[in-house]
Amino acid sequence: MAAIFASLYFLLVPGQLKSFAYTDEQVALIRKNGMVYDFIRAGRSSLMSAALEKNPENIRKMDQYLISDKDLPANTDFTAIYNVVAPLYDKGYEKEDVLKLVNSVELMDLMLLTENPLPVNKDVMFTALDKKYNVIQAYQLANLDKELSTLIISDGADYATTVKLNNKGYSVDDIKAMSKLSSSELRLVTLMKYMEFLPEMVRTQGFNMKLLPRYVINMNENGCLPEDSVMYVNDDLDYVALEDLDLYGMYNDDFRTVNPSSYTALVNKNHYLNSDYAPTDLTEFSQEEMRTDVATALGSLFTALDNQGYDDIIVDIAYISYDEQDELFNRYLEMFDDDEEAALLKTPYAGYSEHQTGLAVDFYYKGKNFSEYNGYQWLLDNAHTFGFILRYPKDKEFLTGFENEPNHFRYVGVEAATIMHDNRWTLEEYTAVFE
Ligand SMILES: [Zn+2]
Repeated sequence: MAAIFASLYFLLVPGQLKSFAYTDEQVALIRKNGMVYDFIRAGRSSLMSAALEKNPENIRKMDQYLISDKDLPANTDFTAIYNVVAPLYDKGYEKEDVLKLVNSVELMDLMLLTENPLPVNKDVMFTALDKKYNVIQAYQLANLDKELSTLIISDGADYATTVKLNNKGYSVDDIKAMSKLSSSELRLVTLMKYMEFLPEMVRTQGFNMKLLPRYVINMNENGCLPEDSVMYVNDDLDYVALEDLDLYGMYNDDFRTVNPSSYTALVNKNHYLNSDYAPTDLTEFSQEEMRTDVATALGSLFTALDNQGYDDIIVDIAYISYDEQDELFNRYLEMFDDDEEAALLKTPYAGYSEHQTGLAVDFYYKGKNFSEYNGYQWLLDNAHTFGFILRYPKDKEFLTGFENEPNHFRYVGVEAATIMHDNRWTLEEYTAVFE
């Protein structure tokens, strides 16, 4: 029964294909390739869509192209091509485009093009494909501003970085101005917040990425021009030595910390927490309360210290609530006969201690200055890989407002900590250039 059916079917085949406007020669080619059923199905659907679109010309061209196998690579999968060619025509690609694409691009990748509208600058896409960009990138490049795609394709600017910078808000001219930065510096810029003045700073002679936060802080404080700030900071004129700092005078209620639960929340002498702020995910570690992720990271850090053979350390203080800090401050105030300045040198006002975030940790080592701990250098070199930074380093007092505290570490998450460690930035500096 099946055999009869099959032979009957085969008798009908040539006629049916011819009814779809294939020539005898084409029908022979189709049969030779064993694609009879596929072509009947495809022919039917192409005629259908041709009828629907009232554009049989396009479809006929496609069919001719498909079966003139001289243009196609060996071992061509006709069915797969068919599934791509028709939609590409539908999207508005020309015959030459389709031919080029089928010959140079993997079928799986071509599927991506069939799912998207014709790119804005089709020629850019083909140039990009010639330059060995993958289809997704070539397609995206073809939808970019032409100047921007030229910057990438012809001038060799990194694709991902350039697109990210542009999406951030930097113009083609801005990106050109910043092209003197190293690729890792440019990647860093893609992570930072948009800074309108940055291209101008980068253009200034002597620009140093590691000083960028200081340029920004100085510019904001002094209201100077970007290039002036670069020159000022390069000459270290923003630096104030510890002995010349008025640590007490740095207290003011300029800013409330806007994102207190963020791992990079800035709490310092001019960024304060509300009295009702308390983290919601406090947990206990080493008999102290801290936020859950901090406890987990600290567990890994302690294990690593142990594996390195360093002495054990413990957590002295982690979370301090607003009320506890208020009590602590008042105790010092009493001790110093209401001398606020003296009390403040010991502990901050309530709301101004980052211990209230549940992200700060003071370590303790056998009653000595923590910098004498035998794992201290290892900690300075590696704590960032666990998400911790030394919060108050030496010589950064003019930025942090706090004297060097060797045992006070702050959890900020691994990514932020790594950026701060690698650039030797404090949280104040990091915050000046990140959201
Ligand atoms: Zn502390």
